[in-house]
Amino acid sequence: MAYRIVAKCTACGICINRCANGAVYVTPADGYTIDPNRCTECIDLPRRQCYMICPVGAIQPDPDHRETSAQLWAKLRLRHAALNW
Ligand code: SF4
Ligand code: SF4
Repeated sequence: MAYRIVAKCTACGICINRCANGAVYVTPADGYTIDPNRCTECIDLPRRQCYMICPVGAIQPDPDHRETSAQLWAKLRLRHAALNW
């Protein structure tokens, strides 16, 4: 499943550049947010980069966006194709 940012986020900002998929963003209205359409759970990496770096545990699995490994890999391939990697 995708990850999400919960209310205890302190807006420290250190997670925003950790996501290679550009899934973490910030807006004045919603604060720090993860786009579930871009989050691949870092399936190609040993650890979830944003989850690992957050000092207050504000990044957690999102039960509303459950996906299989096959779906996450497919999302990653689409992302790489879009970026022409
Ligand atoms: S889990 Fe990985 S892919 Fe998902 S938002 Fe965090 S760094 Fe990005
Ligand atoms: S690292 Fe954690 S506390 Fe800092 S902006 Fe990201 S979610 Fe919020």
